Amino acid sequence: VSTAVEAPLEQPSITFQDVGGMDAIKEEIRLKIVHPLAHPEIYQAYGQRIGGGVLMYGPPGCGKTYLARATAGEIKARFLSIGINDVLDMWLGSSEKNLHELFEQARRSKPCVLFFDEVDALAAKRTDMRYSSGRQIVNQFLAELDGVESPNDGILILAATNAPWHLDSAFRRPGRFDRIMFVPPPDRHARTHILRILCRHKPIEDIDYDYLSKKTVNFSGADLKAVVDLAIDRKLQLAIKQGIPKPLTTRDFLAAVELIHPSVTEW
Ligand code: ATP
Repeated sequence: VSTAVEAPLEQPSITFQDVGGMDAIKEEIRLKIVHPLAHPEIYQAYGQRIGGGVLMYGPPGCGKTYLARATAGEIKARFLSIGINDVLDMWLGSSEKNLHELFEQARRSKPCVLFFDEVDALAAKRTDMRYSSGRQIVNQFLAELDGVESPNDGILILAATNAPWHLDSAFRRPGRFDRIMFVPPPDRHARTHILRILCRHKPIEDIDYDYLSKKTVNFSGADLKAVVDLAIDRKLQLAIKQGIPKPLTTRDFLAAVELIHPSVTEW
């Protein structure tokens, strides 16, 4: 039966190996998500509950979506990413029904990571909502997290927000988003790691990653990606003019760093 709301299902090929930095968070996800999914009987034997959701928060562009996708890749699950527009699409019937359909799609596709980007838009404090329709979505969302109509086994619910304080506190009760992880901007070590990952399989020559990471204070993971993409693009244009492809050097990346604004501000 085809339903009105179908979000594109992905089978991510990236895993934790592709995520630079974030060692502590990856470890936490392994302990709280990957291992319980792999050995549910052991967790249950010790009376440990499995399931529930994880809320990630932190500044934009620092890899929340990327990490969620890599988590799905790590556990070989499918990945369903949901933005506010998928739920609030007024042409596709009522929002509560849309939200229910999206959860149902995840339940049909298990194992599945269901990811809510900018979740604060859907889960804002009910008292902040001016319209009763907003409150209905919040209530429906809570009911879906609790698995009132259908159970959520085999689906992992991850959510990201830049503004965790806007979330209704009901979302943080046990079994809902009861685990909260801060995804920080990358420090120097993490920037080195991210740059190395972004440059894998690229034509490069003696890159001084350490120096580049010193020169990219306040660059988010997304900013670093923009730097690498720009450096490659400029080198490619040059190669077309000169008719010979040459490998990228530290200098090419430094020139790109000068043109990209770092987006991390005091958080
Ligand atoms: P937002 O908070 O705005 O949703 P985000 O934190 O989810 O942003 P992403 O969209 O995940 O940021 O990151 C943008 C891109 O930057 C990714 O697709 C990836 O290519 C790169 N990137 C970000 N962080 C990392 C990282 N830690 N390791 C490797 N690549 C990264």
